[in-house]
Amino acid sequence: MTPEEFRRHGRQVVDWIADYLAGIESHPVMSQVKPGEIRRALPSAPPERGEPFESVLSDLERLLLPGITHWQHPGFFAYFPSNASGPAILGDLLSSGLGVQGMLWVTSPACTELETVVVDWLAELLGLPGHFRTDAAGGGVIQDSASSACLVALLAALHRAGDGRVTEEGITRRYALYVSSQTHSSLERAARIAGLGAAGVRLVDVDPRTLAMDPAHLRTLLDRDRADGIVPAMVCATVGTTSTTAVDPVPEIGAVCRERGVWLHVDAAYAGVATVCPELRWLNDGVAEYADSYATNPHKWLLTNFDCGVLWTADRGPLLAALSSLPEYLRNAATSAGSVIDYRDWQVPLGRRFRALKLWSVIRWYGAEGLRAHIRQGVGLAQELAGWIAADPGFEPHEPHPLGLVCFRPRWPGLDAREADRATMRLLELLNASGSMYLTHTRIGDRAVLRMAIGGAATERRHVEQAWERIRTEHAALSRTLPGH
Ligand SMILES: *Cc1c(COP(=O)(O)O)cnc(C)c1O
Repeated sequence: MTPEEFRRHGRQVVDWIADYLAGIESHPVMSQVKPGEIRRALPSAPPERGEPFESVLSDLERLLLPGITHWQHPGFFAYFPSNASGPAILGDLLSSGLGVQGMLWVTSPACTELETVVVDWLAELLGLPGHFRTDAAGGGVIQDSASSACLVALLAALHRAGDGRVTEEGITRRYALYVSSQTHSSLERAARIAGLGAAGVRLVDVDPRTLAMDPAHLRTLLDRDRADGIVPAMVCATVGTTSTTAVDPVPEIGAVCRERGVWLHVDAAYAGVATVCPELRWLNDGVAEYADSYATNPHKWLLTNFDCGVLWTADRGPLLAALSSLPEYLRNAATSAGSVIDYRDWQVPLGRRFRALKLWSVIRWYGAEGLRAHIRQGVGLAQELAGWIAADPGFEPHEPHPLGLVCFRPRWPGLDAREADRATMRLLELLNASGSMYLTHTRIGDRAVLRMAIGGAATERRHVEQAWERIRTEHAALSRTLPGH
């Protein structure tokens, strides 16, 4: 493809994306295709001869679009938001256009140095402590995901807990990781990948109402392991759990970790970016005093296309000691002089995309003010929705709901718990099949509940209102078909 051909097709692609985003409400939110349908519609063999780019675009529209779930649709309320935005899409396009692989400072100094600037900017925007900044002992780094961030944190924690022996000799003693039943599943996977095994993961109790980790039980588990000769490697506290946005008491958990010399990782993958708003800074309580590492994802709620997760450490020493290596083929004067950052030492893969470009583009386009307005819109709509739910005798909201997620249980008078859960799941299927919205579910206290996560870039009040009207109507219609009516 020559530069002139690229210019022509590039314009077509940008026009296609603009039309897609402008008309996104005309699509059903959740793809309704059956397994295998898309694959069967595509040729099983690759073309021998090159094809015109127009064929790719028309096949995207004709064959693939039915198999797309429209994450940017204003009626997308499933999981957590995965915001896209114009500046992020363009930033990513520029990154592709430059085609840089930024594994070392020397492979593109601007790729590294812009990243340092934007992660420091983000630390300031979120009110994170000064020691997380690159000019202090810590530093931030862009990872592909929060899952990678917690694995990298665990490797640094193991390095410190074993006085370097894990990095040198591997796991020769038993180490443990402390999480709760509400912690993201990526932590257990990190334990398996790091060689602790699922058996090295301890489940700390949670408060049955708030679902927040119980620091007293954490202390008991840590002391029991120590007495048994097991080394506590890391505690993961979550600020805004995936299931219900529960907030673990970081100050109390941190004090227990400090007393016992255990690494504290704070997973704020979804909620962390909300602290761009001063009124939500309480989400950072205890982070400055106690967190050894902290992660949040601009790719969820901060208008930055997937993938972009940021990990900060209070002290980059153990992280670099755990992950640095310097084979001959990567040797260069800047690295040897120790005057530059090589972010490949801060992550699992060697190669790295120029992700800082899209985060930079987002922060510059919206400014702190625009980012705050976006978060406030999501929180405000969620609080309104929670009010409507609480006022309706047919539904019961789960408290608290401080952010953009509201969990709620439809009531089904006359049904026992099992039958009621089945009716809730049936309601969810009907709503998602309607094409106008997409919700997901979770379990709280062993009961099925619906989750409605607000925070899409295009979601306005009318979309939340329409969705709530439809939920009430479908609930009433389904209730009438149940026994006893
Ligand atoms: C979404 C989420 C994760 C995983 O994020 P990825 O970036 O997809 O790996 C981890 N922890 C919490 C609390 C989350 O909500």
